[in-house]
Amino acid sequence: MNIKVLDTTLRDGEQTPGVSLTSNEKLRIATKLDEIGVDFIEAGSAITSEGERESIKEIAGQNFNAEILSFSRPLNADIDYCIDCDVDAINLVVPTSDLHIEDKLKTTREKLLDLSNNAIDYCKDHGLIVELSAEDASRSDVDFLKSVYINAIDHDVDRICVCDTVGILTPDSSFELFSQFKDFKVPVACHCHNDFGLAVANTLSAIKGGATEIHTTINGIGERAGNTSFEECVVSIDRLLNDYSTNIKINEIYDMSKLVARLTGVYIQPNKAIVGENAFAHESGIHSDGIIKNSATYEPMTPELVGRKRKFVIGKHMGTHGLNNRLKELGLSVDDSQLKQICDNIKVLADKGKTVTDVDLQVIADNVLEINHEDLIKLDEVTIVSGNKVMPTASVKITIDGEQILNAGVGLGPVDAAINAIKSLDIFKDIDLIEYHVDSITGGTDAFIDVIIKLQKGDKVVSARGTEADIINASVKAYIAGVNRLLRD
Ligand code: MN
Repeated sequence: MNIKVLDTTLRDGEQTPGVSLTSNEKLRIATKLDEIGVDFIEAGSAITSEGERESIKEIAGQNFNAEILSFSRPLNADIDYCIDCDVDAINLVVPTSDLHIEDKLKTTREKLLDLSNNAIDYCKDHGLIVELSAEDASRSDVDFLKSVYINAIDHDVDRICVCDTVGILTPDSSFELFSQFKDFKVPVACHCHNDFGLAVANTLSAIKGGATEIHTTINGIGERAGNTSFEECVVSIDRLLNDYSTNIKINEIYDMSKLVARLTGVYIQPNKAIVGENAFAHESGIHSDGIIKNSATYEPMTPELVGRKRKFVIGKHMGTHGLNNRLKELGLSVDDSQLKQICDNIKVLADKGKTVTDVDLQVIADNVLEINHEDLIKLDEVTIVSGNKVMPTASVKITIDGEQILNAGVGLGPVDAAINAIKSLDIFKDIDLIEYHVDSITGGTDAFIDVIIKLQKGDKVVSARGTEADIINASVKAYIAGVNRLLRD
């Protein structure tokens, strides 16, 4: 059985507290949603604002394979705005619980039925596909809920949706509820919220109960605790539910997730299934050993399935033997004293509370392996003036190939000023800073700051790190280390 996916990252997902996307960002997300194989994209809610309408219209004009919907209340004014946006379909949201009907809308069940039926007729008259979503369906009187759906089907609705608006279903009650609609002649969709952490489980139960369409958001973002997570649900259907499948290209899931995390600024918890930083990470020891022999020992699926790579975390308990193997796998050969130096440096970082990844190991090893090289550029001094009333200004004294040079620069902040003071010198002119990443290793304001940067010159890319108590020193150190590495050959 093929399960259709309606993604509502751009509507319910954007209702995440603190999230607001520009039209361009929405278009980028919609484009990726279409590429990855989402069947229906809810692009927004047309009534919201002029900007929202422009964005919906832009997405609707892209000739995507996916059907483009706008959210709408059962009011002609709302629907007119959707029509102006040239969407294919309407997600017509009608509250069906007495709580919503009486306390929110101050109306009656009868009037609500009329509202719903009239809105469907109005949409159909304008050639729109209509999915009728019963809001708060899971707390509605089931007989009334059924009558809303049956009325809708009589009015030629295309699909119906059962919304667990406040996330109170359990896998059992979800199965029971959805089983009641399995004889309907239109597809039944499931829209779950994650207030009790059960959204994905309830969605899978809904499928077992007869739902053939699921609503999701990327990374599960959404109001309060969010919605059914796209990646968890889609991969579960693929790997755990026999006889069910979706049209999603699973190996692009990680890219999709990262795009949305970056654009929304809602970062993913490290232990989140499928897309979390640690989802395919293994600590050194028995697990790593098993994984190397046969990955199935400690992985229910390969990381490649979802577009990821396995990661081994290098801890302070790792012996030199294991470390040497790891270095060999990374293509680095070291002698005994270098191996000991690398091992010591890892322990220093680990003692500061830093998790040492393969990328870290690479940088540490590179640093150790280059200890014997004579660096072309040396930092002698850096002085910063910064504050709330002055433009951050830096002066640097550096020695390039034996000649000491003094230079100054300004910037948006002290780090920017320091880097500008260095890079305005001729020798740096073809070098681009392509990534700058800051991590605070320990807790308070006395934390060690770990800066990792990536520099590019032509087609050569290097990364380098600086770890210091001072963010400016750490940044400058990382920058100069990277430049020295770039200029070495
Ligand atoms: Mn919702």
